[in-house]
Amino acid sequence: MKKIIIAIDGWSSCGKSTLARQLAQSLGYVYIDSGAMYRAITLYFQRHQIDLNQEDQIHAALNDIHLTFLLNPATQQAEIHLNGENVETAIRDLTVANQVSLVSTLASVRNFAVAQQQKMGEEKGIVMDGRDIGTTVFPKAELKIFMTASIDVRIERRYLEMKIKHPEIPVEEVRKNLGERDRIDSTRTISPLTQDKDAILLDNTLLNMQEQLNWALERVRERLVGHKSIEC
Ligand code: C5P
Repeated sequence: MKKIIIAIDGWSSCGKSTLARQLAQSLGYVYIDSGAMYRAITLYFQRHQIDLNQEDQIHAALNDIHLTFLLNPATQQAEIHLNGENVETAIRDLTVANQVSLVSTLASVRNFAVAQQQKMGEEKGIVMDGRDIGTTVFPKAELKIFMTASIDVRIERRYLEMKIKHPEIPVEEVRKNLGERDRIDSTRTISPLTQDKDAILLDNTLLNMQEQLNWALERVRERLVGHKSIEC
């Protein structure tokens, strides 16, 4: 069967990675969490105290960064490795979350990540989620979904997720982080978060996981049928 590229973009914590993972599993596609790449770069920058105003430091750091996604046999999920170290847990910390959007505004960082993401999509059969996947990484993706959910639902989802590792975390801190990331991500100069003209809007405020998966699989089916009829 013909394989397509599925690009999922949207606001922070609206369930993009959950849907992307479900879709990849249902279709036998590769799932790539592009946010994990920006988070791993941020982690490296923090560990090496890279000055974000010093372009030469940023270039040298990017030259030293090697990112790979490796399958964890226990969870059957791809996890990100930074220079051979599994950093899947470390990149989810608030210290990284609080700086990742700023790091992601940098042109050299985006060029570095986008080039690798485009390479991963060469064979198609990929679901990638992020902020600029439909607009910049795969502008010709056969299916583009732009996700949103009410701010209260998004805060609650992220809060429950963060509370597992940080039981003391105040909900206000989560609210602040989401608001700030949404603001920086949607107003930056390069590849700001925006719904592309041919992206379909999915508001999952009132949908459960199965309902959103069914909705997305229906969109995939439409695309695959569309392709067949074009080919005939
Ligand atoms: O998806 P996630 O919330 O893990 O992404 C973390 C951050 O990485 C985002 O808030 C955004 O600043 C950045 N990002 C990006 N472009 C992408 C994916 C993520 O700028 N394609």
